[in-house]
Amino acid sequence: MRRTRTLAGIGIATVALFALTACNSGTPSDPGGDGGDGGDAGSSTPWEVATDVSLDGSPTFDAMVERDGVIIGVKEDQPGLGYLDVTSGDRTGFDVDIARWIAASLGFDEDQIEFKPIASANREQAIVNGDIDYYVGTYSINDKRKEQIDFAGPYFVTGQGLLVAKDAPEATKLEDFNGKTVCSATGSTPIQNIKANFPDIKTQEYDLYSACVEDLISGKVDAVTTDQAILIGYAAQYPDDVKVTGGLFTEERYGVGLPKGDDVLRDHINTLFTDGGDVWQQIFDNNLGDSGIQVEQPAVDAY
Ligand code: GLU
Repeated sequence: MRRTRTLAGIGIATVALFALTACNSGTPSDPGGDGGDGGDAGSSTPWEVATDVSLDGSPTFDAMVERDGVIIGVKEDQPGLGYLDVTSGDRTGFDVDIARWIAASLGFDEDQIEFKPIASANREQAIVNGDIDYYVGTYSINDKRKEQIDFAGPYFVTGQGLLVAKDAPEATKLEDFNGKTVCSATGSTPIQNIKANFPDIKTQEYDLYSACVEDLISGKVDAVTTDQAILIGYAAQYPDDVKVTGGLFTEERYGVGLPKGDDVLRDHINTLFTDGGDVWQQIFDNNLGDSGIQVEQPAVDAY
């Protein structure tokens, strides 16, 4: 199937909370400049909207073309990664920009994107049901999930970490929380790790990590555990209340969740990541350049 799109409206770059630089050699598009669902990449974008995109044999792409839009599952309570500012309506974050970059590579501009917030526990089902075309939101690639869906990527690597109260002693290992209560999101790899391997740690679960952070600040739990990249965002949001402690206890490789068997779409996204020049780095710098996170773009795993 062939389709033609024009470049999104050329807009004036706006400055985002996390923006450092947004130089690019091509003509920048302004994803927030023409409305969309209120989203805003927050700075001039390092990608362009593709034209004449052809993905023969991808049922997911066919559905996007049919509805003239793309539906992307995301997180929206994770500052720096996937965040919705409910006051301004701006959607920001590394994952959200990766999602936008993929949409642009498929020929869709910002006003053709519908972002759907989906909690960790509901991701596979949302993809299987066809509620979303793809998911970009701190989604670790693992074999259990691969039974139901496929992953493009990885596009980012982090690991399980710990967030504690600002005045709590530093922790070095998960066992430091034996007999204490640690909070994480239902269906996430960190809560699964705690339950399977640390039986002496008590757990509190919510759909959203932001609920765990609220409990930590109010003293109801002793720590929040999930990927350190997520926790660094909360520590930046509440610098007087919480801090990241300890190291990385696992390796979490983030992938783009896709309907199982759509190899054409998976190959397309993997090729985008592999041949995307410095776009990944610019997305990283724009969203996480100030965060202290140091990570290089990982090689894709074309399994
Ligand atoms: N990356 C982990 C996972 O996919 C934790 C973060 C999350 O819940 O999204 O389960």
